[in-house]
Amino acid sequence: MYVNGKFVPENQPVISVFDHGFLYGDGVFEGIRAYKGRVFKLREHVDRLFDSAKAIDLDIGMSKEEMEEVILETLRQNNLKDAYIRPIVSRGNGDLGLDPLKCDKANVFVVAKTMASLYDVMELKAITVGIRRNAPDMLSPNIKSLNYLNNIMAKIEANAKGGQEAIFLDGNGYVAEGSGDNIFIIKNGVVYTPPTINNLKGITRATAIELLEKNKIPVRVENIGLFDVYTADEIFVTGTAAEAAAVVWVDGRTIGTGKTGPVTALMLKEFERITTTTGTE
Ligand code: PLP
Repeated sequence: MYVNGKFVPENQPVISVFDHGFLYGDGVFEGIRAYKGRVFKLREHVDRLFDSAKAIDLDIGMSKEEMEEVILETLRQNNLKDAYIRPIVSRGNGDLGLDPLKCDKANVFVVAKTMASLYDVMELKAITVGIRRNAPDMLSPNIKSLNYLNNIMAKIEANAKGGQEAIFLDGNGYVAEGSGDNIFIIKNGVVYTPPTINNLKGITRATAIELLEKNKIPVRVENIGLFDVYTADEIFVTGTAAEAAAVVWVDGRTIGTGKTGPVTALMLKEFERITTTTGTE
C-alpha cells in the first residue's frame, strides 16, 4: 500500500495512534473500482476526494494528478486488474486533543485489494432505519468522511431486523440513501431518485442516470416518501462496491414481483458494458 510517499507491505504498521483519522474520524476517503486493469471514473473519484477534503478544510498536500498517479501505481505495484481501491486522507498526527491545528500535515494512504466484478443478480431485503442521515447543515452527507458511524448503526439496525441493507430517511422523512449506496425506484416505467442534498453524490448514481437516459427511460430527480417505496414496481441501489442491486423487500413488503425487475436487469448489463470498456490505465 501507499503511505505518505512510499509503498510498503500491507502487514507493516503504518498508522500512529495519534492519527486524527484514527482518533476522531477526522479525514476523508474514496472507494474506487478497477475492471480489467482500467480504473473506472478515476477523475470523478479524485475530484470528490478533493471536494470532501475542501469541505472539512483539509489540505491533502498533493495535486489531483499526483493522487491519480499514486492510485494507478498502487494497482501496478499489486499487479491487480480487478480491484477495489481505497484512498484515505486523514488530518495527520496530532496530540490526544481535538485541535486540528496540532496536526502538521495530512497522512495519505492508498490500499488496493482484489475484487472481482459482480454483475450477478443480487436481491436484497432492506429495512428503513430509525437513525437519520445527517442533515445538510450538519456533517453534510455529501462529504465522504471517515465518520461512518451512523451508516454502521443503520447496518446494525437493518441486520437486527432481518435486512441486508438499510434505507436512510432524512430529517423530513424523505428517502435519503442506503448505508453505502444510492437508491432508485421505478413506478409505471419512470425512474425516480432523490436529489443529492440528503445523500452522497454517488458516482455510480450519476452513471446510472446517464445510462437510463441513453436507453430512453425517463428519470426524475425528486423527493421520495415511504409510500412510494412500498408501492414501487422495482427498486435498485447503486454504488461502487454494490454496482447495481435489486431491493425486492422493504420492511416486510414485497416490492413488485419480488424479483429483479427489467430496468434493474438492464442496468446490470449496461454497467458491465461501461465498466469493461471505459476507464484509466
Ligand atoms: N452513499 C454512501 C453513503 C456511500 O458510502 C456510497 C459509496 O461510496 C454511495 C452512496 C455510492 O457512491 P458511489 O456510487 O460514488 O460509490
